[in-house]
Amino acid sequence: ASQPAGAVDVAVIGGGQAGLAAGYYLRRAGADFVILDAQEQPGGAWRHAWPSLRLFSPAQYSSLPGRMMPIPEGGGYPSAADVVAYLTDYEQRYDLPVIRPAAVRAVREAGERLAVETGAGTWRARIVISATGTWGRPYVPHYAGRDVFRGRQLHTATYLGPEPLRDMRVVVVGGGNSAAQILAEVSTVAETTWVTLRPPRLLPDEVDGRALFDLASRRARCPDAPAIGELGDIVAVSPVRQARERGALKAEPMFTRLTPDGVAFSDGTTLGCDAIIWCTGFRPALAHLAPLKLRKPGGTIPVDGTRALAEMRLHLLGYGDWTGPASATLIGAGRSAKATVAQIMRHLTA
Ligand code: FAD
Repeated sequence: ASQPAGAVDVAVIGGGQAGLAAGYYLRRAGADFVILDAQEQPGGAWRHAWPSLRLFSPAQYSSLPGRMMPIPEGGGYPSAADVVAYLTDYEQRYDLPVIRPAAVRAVREAGERLAVETGAGTWRARIVISATGTWGRPYVPHYAGRDVFRGRQLHTATYLGPEPLRDMRVVVVGGGNSAAQILAEVSTVAETTWVTLRPPRLLPDEVDGRALFDLASRRARCPDAPAIGELGDIVAVSPVRQARERGALKAEPMFTRLTPDGVAFSDGTTLGCDAIIWCTGFRPALAHLAPLKLRKPGGTIPVDGTRALAEMRLHLLGYGDWTGPASATLIGAGRSAKATVAQIMRHLTA
């Protein structure tokens, strides 16, 4: 879709799964809206995932509203490429007005509207939905010696597969799903050490994204329901299970600093390594909202549901539990988007 910059009722920033889910409900409500996406092509963060990444839920549990993700040929859980294909088809099928590349540099006050500034022009919107995800802001914790280590440092966001690490000594940092999946495949070609802040907790084999989503749903209805974290952190997808069976999933406590040749632990021991992979997560990509001065220490913006407390014209969608339970998953994005668009339509017609 192409459309000259101008006035719209709703500007959605980001054309990943969260932005598209919002687009689905905005389209259904007959809203006047545009989706501005920084990338050249559809697919959001999934375009940048490593090729072997598998979703931790089956296709039926990884779908946006309206259209089921096709079950991959040969069965199994969908890959990142399957998700890109699905999102590409999704935005065409619902004829969503996505403009790209249109990276939003800043959102500013402009009288009754918000000005959404991009390299492709400025949109003036009555309501802005920010759905820029987290992939653009990989997080690496501070450890002394990061700049003296002579080996290679990667992050989940820059890891593209095990081959470049073949026969190396590799330290994988982090206790979540990304670390476990990356460790599982790197350990087939390299000598790996896994380090985590606290002992990693594998979910029981029969618990996958379905059960996690059910738990998030229960928690949405009843805040006293168990949190996902109480159950465990890591879904035992089949490469992780195989790694466990090979004995490759043993974790050591976190190191305290990097040295030129490796890492050093609190008991004074050192470990030589050629590469470190930081699977240490992401932060919300909110730099474009800086002119509105809404961020609190910690990097989030206080919200009621998805609406910014201090700026009623701004909604934040898909960033994680602080913007709605499971909102940063494919299946959870729809629920947040539905409630958000209903609230916006009430506001616009009031
Ligand atoms: P994104 O997909 O990041 O999309 C945001 C879009 O906004 C991008 O196109 C980006 O370029 C664009 N953008 C960013 N800044 C701007 C700007 N200033 N102006 C314009 N556009 C901008 N979820 C599941 O449901 N199942 C899984 O199995 C699963 N596995 C995961 C595994 C990994 C390793 C990771 C990291 C995540 C996983 N997730 C999974 C979580 C989740 O589905 C993704 O993080 C998801 O991509 C978030 O979608 P989003 O639309 O919020 O953000």
